[in-house]
Amino acid sequence: MAPNFCEVALPVPLRQTFTYAVPAALADSVVPGCRVVVPMRHRAEIGVVLALTDRAPEGKQIREVVEVLDPLPALTPKLVELGRWMAGYYLSPPGEVFRAMLPPAVEVRAERVLNLTPAGIQQLHELGEQLNRSDAEIAELALLQLFEVEGKPLREIQLRRLPGGAAAAQRLLRRGCLEAREVTRRRKSRTQKIVAWNPAAQEAPSSAAEEKLCEVLTATRGPLPLAHLLAQAGVSRSVVSRLESQRKLISWEEPLAAEEDLFEVGFEPPANVLNAGQQRAVDEIRAWMDAGEFTAGLLYGVTGSGKTEVYLRSVAAALEHGRAALVLVPEIALTLWVGRLCRALFGACVAVLHSALPDAERAREWWRVRRGEARVVVGTRSAVFAPLEALGLLIVDEEQESSYKQEETPRYNGRDVAILRAKLEGAVALLASATPSMESFHNARAGKYHLLELAARVENRPLAGVTVVDMREDFRRTHRAAPLGETLRAAVAARLAQGTQALLLMNRRGYSWFVLCRSCGAAVQCENCSIALTFHKRRNLLICHYCGFTRPVPRKCLKCESPHVYFVGEGAEQIEEYLHREYPEARIARLDRDTVRTKREYQKILGAFAAGKLDLLVGTQMVAKGHDFQRVTLVGVVSADLQLGLPDFRAAERTFQLLTQVAGRAGRGALSGEVLVQTYYPEHYAIQLAARQDYASFFEKELHFRRLMHYPPFAALANVIVRDTKIEHAIRWARAIEAFLAPHAGHGLRVLGPAAAPLARLKREYRFQFLLKAPKRSQLTRVLSACLDFCAQKEIPSNAVLVDVDPVSLL
Ligand code: ADP
Ligand code: ZN
Ligand code: ZN
Repeated sequence: MAPNFCEVALPVPLRQTFTYAVPAALADSVVPGCRVVVPMRHRAEIGVVLALTDRAPEGKQIREVVEVLDPLPALTPKLVELGRWMAGYYLSPPGEVFRAMLPPAVEVRAERVLNLTPAGIQQLHELGEQLNRSDAEIAELALLQLFEVEGKPLREIQLRRLPGGAAAAQRLLRRGCLEAREVTRRRKSRTQKIVAWNPAAQEAPSSAAEEKLCEVLTATRGPLPLAHLLAQAGVSRSVVSRLESQRKLISWEEPLAAEEDLFEVGFEPPANVLNAGQQRAVDEIRAWMDAGEFTAGLLYGVTGSGKTEVYLRSVAAALEHGRAALVLVPEIALTLWVGRLCRALFGACVAVLHSALPDAERAREWWRVRRGEARVVVGTRSAVFAPLEALGLLIVDEEQESSYKQEETPRYNGRDVAILRAKLEGAVALLASATPSMESFHNARAGKYHLLELAARVENRPLAGVTVVDMREDFRRTHRAAPLGETLRAAVAARLAQGTQALLLMNRRGYSWFVLCRSCGAAVQCENCSIALTFHKRRNLLICHYCGFTRPVPRKCLKCESPHVYFVGEGAEQIEEYLHREYPEARIARLDRDTVRTKREYQKILGAFAAGKLDLLVGTQMVAKGHDFQRVTLVGVVSADLQLGLPDFRAAERTFQLLTQVAGRAGRGALSGEVLVQTYYPEHYAIQLAARQDYASFFEKELHFRRLMHYPPFAALANVIVRDTKIEHAIRWARAIEAFLAPHAGHGLRVLGPAAAPLARLKREYRFQFLLKAPKRSQLTRVLSACLDFCAQKEIPSNAVLVDVDPVSLL
């Protein structure tokens, strides 16, 4: 007998899936991986079918699938498997995992429809017979009569058009005279004509114009909107119409999206000849690909060693093997850069996926991948779910980056998911970095990953020399507490005189860190969070960097009314102002989340810097990442200490990584570079070893500490946060969980807490924290799963308990 039930994952915060009946009419179209519309309470939800079954669950009323959205199932069988695994590993509700994997649902919108109930019919008669009716009753009667006349459910929006209709509908709903149901409707959207070369066309192009069209549509760009095609091929509309009638071109309608042209037409990628190190790495990766089974590699290559070139050749190798490739990069700006390189080399089969694309455009790229039209995907974190089939290669650039970690449910790490996906697909996973994470390098040393090394920069350019500047010493000598010490000021002045460029890192936004009262010592705090507000001078506001709360700058202390308030600590905004004052002639810009809110602003500043239209660029960690500036001869780290003080076991690792990354921006071109690192803790090992660019020693030292403290890579770690706006609730639940966990401690499992979380209050919620460490992953998963079951039993609200498996930040 045909299976007539299906298991559906729905985006609700419950750790379960749901069973629905498959009506006979849909029997052929409901298959695993496809999106369906199903009723859930009074709503219509979009879910994804995970499996079919012929067994109904007992004792429950089973509702039916309403509609199937996909002719081609959105998710491949491998992706369904991946999602199930993630739900288990991250202890996330399966529906929320699958929601993260699916394309934006642009084709449907939800809508409420109302219908008459038996009580409503009775009301209709009563009101009809009544002699005197109030205005409200008149409106109600009109509404009920409309239902009677139409004889079918009506959309809520239609009712609003009657005078007093919206209010009357609400009253009738409340009294049970109407019932509401949510349905989905296909969204009508403006479309545009997309033109493609007909793959079935036998004849070769017979004119120059035809040839040009064929080339643009097959080799360089792929299917294009008509307007773009005309512009790019330089042909007239009549040529296109003629070829359409000859069936050499095919066309169809697609939702209109404001597409930004990511790919310049005339872009020529650099034609580099691989050096010996790069060649060795590429050969090795090819050999893994030949073997055709799961292999994980770590490409450890110093900054400027030409890792990108290795990625591109590996992608080419995957395509030669008839397999698809996925390149993950840590931020959107890099998708443009790497996407453009890939497009130049591999043509139309490249797709770019990232979260800043408008929904319609992202959906279009996504489906292009799903239909197999794109075989190479470049993207950020969520692109790890790109629906490629026969995936042969997954590359994770800068694998240690925290941007791969999603800090909301499902709290997955794109890098780790990439490894698992490679395993499921029998593919090659290549993690790459100049400063690999402790976990990945440990895996490489333990033989779980193959280690590939690029020890030197291309053309044997030297790494920039790094000097640590002791700011205590500077102060003793100059008796001036300027943000830039004497040494750094002199170095900047020298660059300005020379006409080369300098990059300054100040990894903190805003003007001052906080406002303090000299009389009573109180700082101005956020109303919603236990954190001091940051002063932003241009906006003349105090701002919370965690919840966005703002308030005007007080003239007097809010506690004791003393007029002696002062501003403490320097942020990037203040450094920029200082530089303008100190070097009035210089062309200066700042790069942080306050100055660049859009991709365009970001590209404008970076473009101006790359083109030599700026002398100094100051900014947060945004300036440290990946960029390849040729004329930077000085990198100045204004303060290396900002992260070291944070209560997080990764503080030293992060500091080491950031310093190494930013130092790597200097001396990448023909000019050699210098790096100055200002610090008040010159003896700290993270700073010392970053200055020597000695990754191996840092790894050893840090590993020793991790082993002693039972931190990753020696333990599987989970952070459990209990939170509520009422502190009594948070305490009560933390106590209950404490009691549950206590008997599980031992056998290697360590439970720390409950303790107030480092951010004890965030967005109005009080927060308590448990840290669980287990030598074995399976043990951690088992206990956490039991703990969540326990919470559900005790009716602790599911959003009050937040489980973060493999946390990247403990704040
Ligand atoms: P990484 O990502 O390892 O820091 P990149 O991949 O950005 O380094 O490469 C740094 C620069 O070296 C780029 O400008 C790139 O075009 C150039 N490059 C890469 N490989 C070679 C090579 N074999 N010969 C010359 N230049 C190269
Ligand atoms: Zn005060
Ligand atoms: Zn806040």
